[in-house]
Amino acid sequence: MTPSSQNAAMRIPTFADVRIAAGRIAGFAHKTPVLTSRTFNAATGTEVFFKCENFQRGGAFKFRGAMNAILAVADEPRARGVVAYSSGNHAQALAYAAQIKSVPATIIMPKDAPILKVEATRGYGAEVIFYDRYTEDREEIGRRVASERGATLIPPYDHPDVIAGQGTATLELIEEVGQLDALYVCLGGGGLLAGAALAAAELSPACRVVGVEPAAGNDGQQSFEKGEIVTIPVPKSIADGAVVTHLGEHNFPIIREKVAEITTVTDEELVRTMRFFAERMKIMVEPTGCLGAAAAHANAKDLAGKRVGVIISGGNIDLTRFAELVTTGDQA
Ligand SMILES: *Cc1c(COP(=O)(O)O)cnc(C)c1O
Repeated sequence: MTPSSQNAAMRIPTFADVRIAAGRIAGFAHKTPVLTSRTFNAATGTEVFFKCENFQRGGAFKFRGAMNAILAVADEPRARGVVAYSSGNHAQALAYAAQIKSVPATIIMPKDAPILKVEATRGYGAEVIFYDRYTEDREEIGRRVASERGATLIPPYDHPDVIAGQGTATLELIEEVGQLDALYVCLGGGGLLAGAALAAAELSPACRVVGVEPAAGNDGQQSFEKGEIVTIPVPKSIADGAVVTHLGEHNFPIIREKVAEITTVTDEELVRTMRFFAERMKIMVEPTGCLGAAAAHANAKDLAGKRVGVIISGGNIDLTRFAELVTTGDQA
């Protein structure tokens, strides 16, 4: 790697990049709806605005970052294809975005990834290569496959164009509903949270941005408190989109500077939230997508009378699994 490409790799995005991303992905990504619930507001004494990325193309916000990253690659390298490693939604998003631009995509997925996500990825025309997430290093496999094929590796969260793309969800939310007192954002590797923090800091500077992780894997919270990236063993949680082992290097500086707090919720709280969304708001939200809402609910007493944004990050879960979780509260 040349020094200049190393610098490019560590380009930390700014709000200007979020604006550029919004222009780039306009016409490709959906401007997703913002929903409210009188039941949720009454139960918490707050005014909550749910940004519904479960209605995004591909069923999650990941399409924003993937589309932005693909559009940012020059034509000639882009024609050689893109590679991603992902436990699900980024894989689908990148495959979908690649299909739209007629670019070949190869996706490295864990062999225990939810079947719906594997099938959706293949359905978008991508080649899937499996690995064992307990014993193999997906980042290394991704780099190897990319270099063999001369393709561009687009990681799920540790990338400036991915972060900038994810930030467009919060940009849209604040432009639509106005100033917020707090914003609750799901946290895996930190692409969504870093992007949200860039947008909120600029457009609603008084807003407290809160990252929310599964309690079983609070590496982000530990990193935030320690001031350096902490790596943990692969956590076990139903929030499969957030069971990462460490934050990204591009994400962490933004999170440290612009995020107010990182909090956690249990799988049981996630299941209760999934049930609430389905029963009361008639929307299907995957466990990871419930992190922000579950934390806002748990912290209601600090949020009384406040205007609160919650990013619902995705809705990709197969119906059998959904039914299993909401009927048994299964922790597995
Ligand atoms: C990827 C994902 C997350 C976590 O996003 P990061 O950018 O990795 O922090 C949250 N929810 C859903 C539905 C996801 O697909």
